[in-house]
Formats: sequence, structure tokens, C-alpha cells
Amino acid sequence: MSTCDKKEYCGIFGIFDHENAGSLTYLGLYALQHRGEESCGMAVSDGRRIKQITGMGLVPDVLGGKKSQEIKGRSAIGHVRYSTTGSSILRNAQPFMINHSKFSVSIAHNGNLVNAVKLRRKLESEGAIFQTTMDSEIILHLLVRSKNEKFEDKLFDAISQCEGAYSIIFLTGDKIIGVRDPNGFRPLCLGKKNGSYVLASETCSLDLIDAEYVRAIEPGEVVVISASGLESKRPFKTAVTASCIFEFIYFARPDSIIFGDSVYEVRKRLGRKLAEEWPMNADFVMSIPDSGNYAALGYSEKSGVPYEYGMIRNHYIGRTFIQPSQEMRQHGVKIKLNPIKKILKGKKVIVVEDSIVRGTTTGGRIKAIREAGVKEIHMRISCPPIKFPCFYGIDFPNRKELIANQLKSVEEIGKFIGVDSLKYLSLNGMLEAVGKGEGGFCAACFDGKYPTKINRKAAKSPFE
Ligand code: 5GP
Ligand code: MG
Repeated sequence: MSTCDKKEYCGIFGIFDHENAGSLTYLGLYALQHRGEESCGMAVSDGRRIKQITGMGLVPDVLGGKKSQEIKGRSAIGHVRYSTTGSSILRNAQPFMINHSKFSVSIAHNGNLVNAVKLRRKLESEGAIFQTTMDSEIILHLLVRSKNEKFEDKLFDAISQCEGAYSIIFLTGDKIIGVRDPNGFRPLCLGKKNGSYVLASETCSLDLIDAEYVRAIEPGEVVVISASGLESKRPFKTAVTASCIFEFIYFARPDSIIFGDSVYEVRKRLGRKLAEEWPMNADFVMSIPDSGNYAALGYSEKSGVPYEYGMIRNHYIGRTFIQPSQEMRQHGVKIKLNPIKKILKGKKVIVVEDSIVRGTTTGGRIKAIREAGVKEIHMRISCPPIKFPCFYGIDFPNRKELIANQLKSVEEIGKFIGVDSLKYLSLNGMLEAVGKGEGGFCAACFDGKYPTKINRKAAKSPFE
């Protein structure tokens, strides 16, 4: 991944009572790698004790070889991380585990708590000593301090104090517990593998291990999975459903079902809508691979303009690619995506892309297409301009870094990027194309309407 790519967030996985819990968790995480490439780990329970492995790097580097088979146990959880709160260091890798006199528990968390600073200050003033800078650790401190008797009641008590986005899987000696916050910001799905329950951020993870998809965990739902089966509970106050619309636009894998819909199909619908709103004739439609592929296909289908692959992605580019000199950096864009000159030369093209955040990557790619001898470039974006930061787990920079905030008009952004025309899908068009989902979406990065209370200072500046 190049240095100008934005950060992603996290993916989580869990399986209860399966003889191959370790290796299935390894595979499950492999399918979620796109959700976090910085560190990863897994925790395994043998019915009493929990052991875990965490490390910096990709899933096969940290958990590959025999490692995932060697930690023995029939229940496991796993996590891939790209820091959204907490810096990029090993002690911030998850799962995060504590041993307490009464219980051991490990947590894998996706999402951001918006009241983390407040909670942590309070806990610290009461004597809590934190080992990490992650907001996820706060949940375990709250859990341990709860006056409730039963473990589950302690857990409900702890989570009720948290605000913001959290899809979580807990592992204890004899249970796994899946939780989705009342707004349902982040996805979490339920599957079954040879009779054993599986939880995962996305269904592509279930597909890889041949697990059957059962359903999405609902917003505000807690599922407690133990030897006595699955119990569904609703211990929290209800809230409006606000699933993250950006999961559909960019984050989730196109082969997943999230929030009850196929990511692939939603992206195609966004592309069709874009063609309806901004029709145009050209020699062909192309995408910026891979994330723009599906909207581009939808655009081509709806407009009748043929589809071509104008750029080819090198699949061997890893995040470890370092650009040591200016000379090498200049070539960086083409290392990942190479324009096909033969196809592009002298053509009028529609370039479809899923989103523009800072505008820098897009600018580089357009330049590369231009240099391939194209005649006209008309860019179409399958979401509206991103104008507001995300406090719920997507690492959108502060307002100043967002190109749609820096520049006043779409025309100016188009000029900055170097295209002949630039059009974005409208907010209403996007909402219509995405549909109802599980009841509603958070589109705060586009419209600034945050579904929870936000204390801007506190939400973004944790304890670095
Ligand atoms: P920009 O031109 O804003 O620098 O980059 C836009 C590109 O980044 C698009 O290709 C889009 O698919 C991709 N993108 C959008 N959001 C994210 C993100 O959160 N993380 C990463 N890695 N890429 C993103
Ligand atoms: Mg992209």
C-alpha cells in the first residue's frame, strides 16, 4: 500500500466449539485482511484458559505456518487491525486479553467509541492503569469494575456506558459473545460451520471456511454462544439504525453480504444511478481498479457505453513496498496500476471511481492515464463529496485534509485532479441506490449529520 492510502479499520472473527478453531480463525482472518493490514492476532480457549498470539504485519506473517494450529482449543476469536484510535504498535494489537481473579476474557473490537476520552479519564482518576492506547481496553476496565454478579450482566453494564461504534466479539473460558452497537454502525454476521457457530465482520470470511450464512447480528443485539446454544439478548437502549454507508461504497469486500445486502450489487446500483444522474457519451467506461470496478460496470450497463479495462493492477504490491527515493516515488503510481496505452491512446473515456478523499492518489492516477495519450477524461464518482470526518472507525482525515473542503467547487476539484469534467453522485441518488438496508444509514461523512452526540475534541484525540 502506498504511503498516501488512507487507513482502514478492523475486522473480527470468532468460532465456538470446533475441533479446528485455530486454523478456521486463521482462514477467517485471511478473508478479512482488507479491513486491516497493520497488526493481527487470535485468542484461543481450551475451555478454561485463553492463550493468544498477536503481532505486527499481515495474517500469514503473524499467524501462518503451524502457529494457528499449535495453540490448542475449540473456541477462538481473531482480529485484523489498522489503527483508528491508538498508535501503531504491538501492544495495541488485538485481541486484547485480561486475566482477573474471577475470569479471563479476550476482546476483538471493530469501531470507535466516541466517549472514550471521558470514560478513560474517569477510570484513570479512579486508579485504573491502562496498558494500551486503544479504546477497546476501556471496555474491559468497565467490565471488571461492574458491581453486577454474573459475567454477562457485568458485560452489559460495561457496554451500556459506551457510545459510538462497536461490533465486538468476546472470548471467555466457555463462551463467545457477539455484540453490535444499537446504531449498528459496523457489520457483524452469524454463520454455522459443521454445527458450530461463527461470527465475522463480513460473509466473505464465512465463504472461505465453507460456513453457511445464517443472518446479520442486529443493531443492539448481543448473542451469547455457549454449550447450551445461542441466546439472543437486547440489553441496550434502542437507537436509530445507522449502518455505515461507506462500508458499501468502499470498505467491505464486493463478495460479502453486509447489512442484509450484497456489496457487489449495491456498488453496481450506485454506478447505474451515477449514469442516470450524469449521462455521457464516450469511447468507453473504465474504472480505477479494484474499488471502482463495480460502479463502473453499473455505469456501463445503464448508459450502454462499452466497458474496458484501461488500467491493470499489479497484485503483488504489498504494504511493505517502501519508496526510498524521489525517483522511485515518481514511479509509485504505476507500480500499483498500469494504464494500457494501446487501449487509451486518443480516446474519450469515462473514468469511474468509488470515492475521492484527499484527492492526491486520484490526481496521480489521472496523470498516468493522461500520459498514456488519452484525449478526454470525464470522471464520475459513485458517492457525494466527502466533507466531514468520521468518528465511528473510518479514518477520514480532519476536515482540512478533505479535498472537498479545501476547494470550493466540484469544478475546482476536477481541475486539481486534472480531469476534463468531474461529477459526483448526489446524496439522494446514493441513498436511493443503496436502499433501506437494515433500516437506515449513517452518511455523516457526506452530510455532517452524526447519529450520536459528538464531542469533537474528545472523540478524535485519544492518548497518544
Ligand atoms: P484520494 O484521491 O482521495 O487520495 O484517494 C482516493 C482513492 O482512495 C480511491 O481509489 C478510493 O477507492 C480509495 N479510498 C477511499 N477511502 C479509502 C480508505 O479509507 N482507505 C484506503 N486505503 N483507500 C481509500
Ligand atoms: Mg480505489
